[in-house]
Amino acid sequence: LVKYINVKKNFGKLQVLKGIDLEVGYGEKLTIIGSSGSGKTTLIRMLMTLEKPSSGTIEIEGESLWTMTKNGKIVPADEAHLRKMRSKVGMVFQQYNLFPHMTVLDNCTIAPIKVKGVDPEEAKEQAIQMLKRVKMADKINYYPNQLSGGQKQRVAIARAVLMRPKILLLDEVTSALDPEMVGEVLNVLNEIAQEEKDMAMIFVTHELDFAREISDRIIFINEGYILEQGKPESILNDPKSERLQAFLSRFK
Ligand code: ATP
Repeated sequence: LVKYINVKKNFGKLQVLKGIDLEVGYGEKLTIIGSSGSGKTTLIRMLMTLEKPSSGTIEIEGESLWTMTKNGKIVPADEAHLRKMRSKVGMVFQQYNLFPHMTVLDNCTIAPIKVKGVDPEEAKEQAIQMLKRVKMADKINYYPNQLSGGQKQRVAIARAVLMRPKILLLDEVTSALDPEMVGEVLNVLNEIAQEEKDMAMIFVTHELDFAREISDRIIFINEGYILEQGKPESILNDPKSERLQAFLSRFK
């Protein structure tokens, strides 16, 4: 589904990613761990075309997100191609990014109606079902500023899933929340991860117990490379490298 081929990324002199090769399969649940500043966010933002690799290729379903010109420059593909590629990817951010002037229901129906051309009644029905799944059915007429952080984040998750992306990216979606709200969001994500068998999900998170439960695979990024990857048990219980051992020991 997704393929990173020797992807590098610099910000000026800072080399953040030094050569990432990574494949993600249909429906796979993948978690990316690594220290702060190791480039986890950058890695997934590139899939959303929010960042451009300095070199290398990223493909979704065999098609590149970027085009290499004759002089070796990497440029975005044309708008129509980008739109098509972006429609395969959804993202939930640390900050909830809901439209403040719209109700919960409208937040969830606007993109399916406007972008995907779903019939408004149908979109409403789907949104209500989805909001039930994230335990927000009783708040469909609320505005974002009437909701807690955890509730906003659950709406943001519902909104993203309603677009039926092939890949959903979740970037530290609980890290801006008060501790007592983290659990409710992780529970909802856990259910969605179990139920949405066809949707690949890539999590960046420091919630290791959650990662253990939901991930098919965990990858550890260190100094610009994937240093270790494997099943949750092997990565979390039996780390091979000193770097990963040191990283994990911080959570004990
Ligand atoms: P965290 O866990 O703290 O969110 P991360 O692993 O997600 O960290 P990134 O956000 O990908 O790390 O950032 C990697 C490095 O790249 C950091 O040193 C950051 O300061 C730098 N960086 C990220 N975006 C930019 C940018 N637009 N311009 C310059 N430097 C950037």
